[in-house]
Amino acid sequence: MRRPLRIVLLGPPGSGKGTQAHIISELYGVPVITTGDMLREAVANGTEYGKIVDSYMSRGELVPDKIVNGVVGERLNRSDLENGFILDGFPRSTPQAEFLDGFLEEHDLKLEYVIHVTLDDEAIVKRLSNRRSCPNCGEVYHLVSKPPKKEGVCDKCGSELILRDDDRPDVIRNRLVVYREKTQPLLDRYMEKGLIKEAPGDHPMERLPELLKRVLG
Ligand code: AMP
Repeated sequence: MRRPLRIVLLGPPGSGKGTQAHIISELYGVPVITTGDMLREAVANGTEYGKIVDSYMSRGELVPDKIVNGVVGERLNRSDLENGFILDGFPRSTPQAEFLDGFLEEHDLKLEYVIHVTLDDEAIVKRLSNRRSCPNCGEVYHLVSKPPKKEGVCDKCGSELILRDDDRPDVIRNRLVVYREKTQPLLDRYMEKGLIKEAPGDHPMERLPELLKRVLG
């Protein structure tokens, strides 16, 4: 059996991290941990804590490190990660990267790869404003390249599709600013450790498995 795979996907919002994470997961049987989905679930529960989280997410700001590290720490301590994990959307700031390093060190584990998914800003705005998401099962569509069979309805569960608040063009622009300021510096950190692998975010979908197998060796 292949050694455990511990992977971080790093890239701007809308670059295609989630799609790549799920393909790697299927190829290698490793669970994906998506902080955006975990936080959206907290918002959907409507608790006081969810309201705090929502106040950051709807503006395209990062949810405070203390909250996110808490959520991720709990998830990493569950017992289904013996084959590894794929972190989609974490870490997104230096304190989060320090938290992850601390966790790995404490458990005598190592990251194998940090996949840097790249896409230019214009393509990102175009992609995200055409994105429609299912608030129930999390399935993601694109009005042009992956439309649902029936307009406005999720193929998987029949729920009504939405444009996420934070996929509106003004919020997308802010998410890109936040990415540049808080997340991009992590590239240097992982470059120094020799962990970075590049993967273009606009690679044709049907050829992604082949690309990712090549990238991961
Ligand atoms: P995503 O679905 O990954 O684009 O994340 C959507 C939003 O969730 C982000 O714009 C942030 O508000 C929040 N979020 C997701 N992951 C993190 C994280 N690691 N740290 C802080 N906020 C996060």
